[in-house]
Amino acid sequence: MVGFCGDDKPGRPSGLSSGDSGREHPVRKRQKTVRMKEKLSAAALCVGVGSFSDPPDLPGLAHYLEHMVFMGSEKYPDENAFDVFIKKHGGSDNASTDCERTVFQFEIQRKFFREALDRWAQFFISPLLKADSLEREVKAVDSEFQMNLPVDSYRKQQLFSTMAKVGHPMAKFMWGNLASLQQKPSEQGINVHQRLGEFRRTFYSAQYMTLAVQSAETLDTLEEWVSEVFSAVPNNGCPAPNFDDYKDTFDTPNFYKLYKMVPVKSVNQLEITWSLPCQMKHYRVKPLHYLGWLLGHEGKGSVFNLLKKNMWALGLYAGNNELGFEHNTTNAVFNVIVVLTDEGLRNVKEVITVVFQYIQMLQRLGPCRRVYQEIQTIEDKDFRFKDETDPIDYVENVCENMQLYPPQHYLTGDILMFQYDEQVLAEAQNLLTPDRASLLLVSPQFTADCQLRELWFETPYCVSDIPSDWKEAWKDLLENPELHLPAENRFIAKDFSLKEHDLKDSKYPVKILDTPWSRLWYRPDTKFHQPKAYVHFYLKSPLIGRTPQSVVLLDLFLNILAQNLTAVAYDADVAQLVYKFVAEDSGMVIKVSGFSEKLPLLFETIVDYMADFSVTEEMFDAVKTQLRRSYYNHVIKPMQLVRDVRLSILEKVKWTTLDKRQAMRPLVRDDILQFVGQFRRRLYVEGLVQGNYTRQEALQFEEYLVRKLCCSPVPQNLLPGLRVMQIPSGDHVCRFKSFHRSDANSVITNYYQSRPGDIHRLVLMELMVMLMEEPCFDYLRTQEQLGYAVFPTCRDTAGILGFSVTVQTQATNFSVTEADAKMEKFLEEFDKILKNMTEENFSAQVTALVTLKLCADLHLGEEVDRNWEKIVDQTYLFDRLEREIAALHEFSLSELQAWYREHAFTDRHKLSIQVVGEGGSESLTKVRQGQTEDMEADDDCDSGDEGEDEEDDEEDDDSEDEEEEEMEEDCQEANGMDEADLQLEMLPVEEEEAAGTNISDIPAFKRGLTVFPVTHITS
Ligand SMILES: [Zn+2]
Repeated sequence: MVGFCGDDKPGRPSGLSSGDSGREHPVRKRQKTVRMKEKLSAAALCVGVGSFSDPPDLPGLAHYLEHMVFMGSEKYPDENAFDVFIKKHGGSDNASTDCERTVFQFEIQRKFFREALDRWAQFFISPLLKADSLEREVKAVDSEFQMNLPVDSYRKQQLFSTMAKVGHPMAKFMWGNLASLQQKPSEQGINVHQRLGEFRRTFYSAQYMTLAVQSAETLDTLEEWVSEVFSAVPNNGCPAPNFDDYKDTFDTPNFYKLYKMVPVKSVNQLEITWSLPCQMKHYRVKPLHYLGWLLGHEGKGSVFNLLKKNMWALGLYAGNNELGFEHNTTNAVFNVIVVLTDEGLRNVKEVITVVFQYIQMLQRLGPCRRVYQEIQTIEDKDFRFKDETDPIDYVENVCENMQLYPPQHYLTGDILMFQYDEQVLAEAQNLLTPDRASLLLVSPQFTADCQLRELWFETPYCVSDIPSDWKEAWKDLLENPELHLPAENRFIAKDFSLKEHDLKDSKYPVKILDTPWSRLWYRPDTKFHQPKAYVHFYLKSPLIGRTPQSVVLLDLFLNILAQNLTAVAYDADVAQLVYKFVAEDSGMVIKVSGFSEKLPLLFETIVDYMADFSVTEEMFDAVKTQLRRSYYNHVIKPMQLVRDVRLSILEKVKWTTLDKRQAMRPLVRDDILQFVGQFRRRLYVEGLVQGNYTRQEALQFEEYLVRKLCCSPVPQNLLPGLRVMQIPSGDHVCRFKSFHRSDANSVITNYYQSRPGDIHRLVLMELMVMLMEEPCFDYLRTQEQLGYAVFPTCRDTAGILGFSVTVQTQATNFSVTEADAKMEKFLEEFDKILKNMTEENFSAQVTALVTLKLCADLHLGEEVDRNWEKIVDQTYLFDRLEREIAALHEFSLSELQAWYREHAFTDRHKLSIQVVGEGGSESLTKVRQGQTEDMEADDDCDSGDEGEDEEDDEEDDDSEDEEEEEMEEDCQEANGMDEADLQLEMLPVEEEEAAGTNISDIPAFKRGLTVFPVTHITS
């Protein structure tokens, strides 16, 4: 949520499509996993102005301008000229607008850095801001807003804006959309073009700007370049925007109330919020960090520990997120956010009481030096042994810090705790009193109560006084004997020495153990010389994947295990020892990493909890409810749904989130206990230990795991590989409605399947997608204005290659049929681009990709991820990167052109997955009877366990509160569509649209297909 426009350019498709299941890898993950031996050069510029400075009659103008400066300059007049240049040389760029700052950043190969700086600086020297670009780009801004419309955190933020004092900058609508930037201004006769220019001249001025550059040149050279390029940035000499007059932002009757809000996601949440004076001058003490640490603690004696014991909460966050909205010159927010169980929601007054009791205890005891120093030590060590970050992220952070801290703290001001100051800490914690708090309850259960609509997001909410008996109870808080300060943390590392090891010259992991039940790979750290390590184990079981139940049981197991571990593993977590469980196709993965000294302690704790697994009835029910909600929250996102459905068609056996939701309904506590018993009895274990350990120490991890879990041999034929369906030639369309019935977002992924891959074809396709990225953005987003998120992706689905183009658009603007037609048109446009490509251009692009692949890893984790991938996919091709580089030099432009023509046109196997959003012509055609716009209207109480028929007429959303509660008791579940069994609602495709098939029944479609053999890309 950095700013309002965090990921402005969808140049990071891996985030949107990456295979968390491990089944499918978006091939191009250059941003994350591949680094140059010579690192990329990067620059970031922060303008000390943001949405707070939006004129009252043009909400969103600052954000709009951030977009507009990309649209050509006097020196480089083409729209997107900078993007074209950056993409051509293997870089990326982005920008974001926050309350008081706007940040631009890019990265590129070093040899093009000087030129890129010059092109980029024109954003700030002489942007054209042409009227016709204005017309186009406002749609991108609007589409960005539409895309973020169903995001609860943004909705909540806008709701908080309504509580601010009238006329306060925090009361603004900072996103901007078509209404605020075009329709309303034109009704009022406002000349937006002119105002945008004025805004730029006033605020995009050198005295407000800070710049950070990172490149391997000498400092002198960099300084010379910067002064050559940036001295042309105008400086109007005006004083900086100042909001000092806006004090006590939320000291209004509106704030000290009880709010209720209906979320988009299915979740129950309590949010207690305090507004404090600006805390920036206390950055050396960081009182809110200290308080957030204590209130957010999950160990014994903590708020969360007590709430969980009562089964009232499954998660808790406390503190200030340090982004503009919560941390600015007018105010600092302190939040306690509790994810409630249904039981917790029923006892919400008691939940709040526990939070207040804990704070009162802190106030009574006064600030604790011992705890403060513990946090200080952790932050110090973390900084001292910090992994290198991406240059582009690093400069982004530094240029912002330059606006906030004195020069000696540019690099540390946001991280370190410099000084224990009892008075500052006491002042802050004494402000957190019950009578200064605002209360917000979030739950789908409040639909009937919430009759008000927030102006911009139309979030349903309501507001009332805090009940007087609550207030009365909080006047005299009793001491709660179960609450106390955290004990000393035994996971904090003290030994940072480096181990001697006997493997000096191997570049790749070495197999140091191979038994019928386990295999272990090991590699010491020969590059980074840090006292850290990574330990990954894949526990494979023939049980997993056979049925949707088995997949659900694994999810349940991992979630309960994580809950069981919280109290003990929380200390490890804050001491920067990371642990993570991942559900994979054939079992689970345990990953631990961090300072090597205490890592075995964490690993053994986890294994102990697995070996002595237990769960109470209440915990089982709470986790099950939570997981069911998270499945629902997954499928209402069209981007995730489109992926789920695509893979369910492509993979021979694939349980979608919908299957899982359905399969989980009958499961009870005994099922999970039985499952865990069976799972443990027959496991094949494969591990990787990398980092600051000797071979002997590496073996001890495997030994502990195998001994504790009593692993026994599993024949390999019980662990079959993944197989992929062959999409027949022609076009196949699968079109269905979005589950979120008031969301206009549609998503289309057009996937073009190739065949079993080898390295040669893989890199060919990778290069093609790289070439496609910028034209795709330019054609589909800038020219055709389909939407904010448009991107091509390279697909390696269990060894079967393909590529796709994805577009997120709004049904109110384009039907999926129109969008698909434009996407097809783009393929033709791209064909022309390829045809006209010169050999010179082609080899420049090959060089760019080779350079990217020659990346040096920034830290050990990147190397580990790459190696682990080869272990999970069982190719053990640790030198694949080198092979890919060799292959890149093998093919010609004409081969690429031919490959593209074949796959895009002459022999294409196209699978188009289309999620249709609300409000367009297509979604209207097939609305079934009784289905209303509001998702809360669906209720599935009487349709039975495996009910296929859930189309019975439902209550309208104006049903009375009492009725809802009755139903809730009946079926023991919260109301709402999220509790019904969901099924894809297929929509028809006109015959002339699909040259192949309209897929209306996925299993039937798959029955007619050939299956590819198990494929590994090894040669
Ligand atoms: Zn934006």
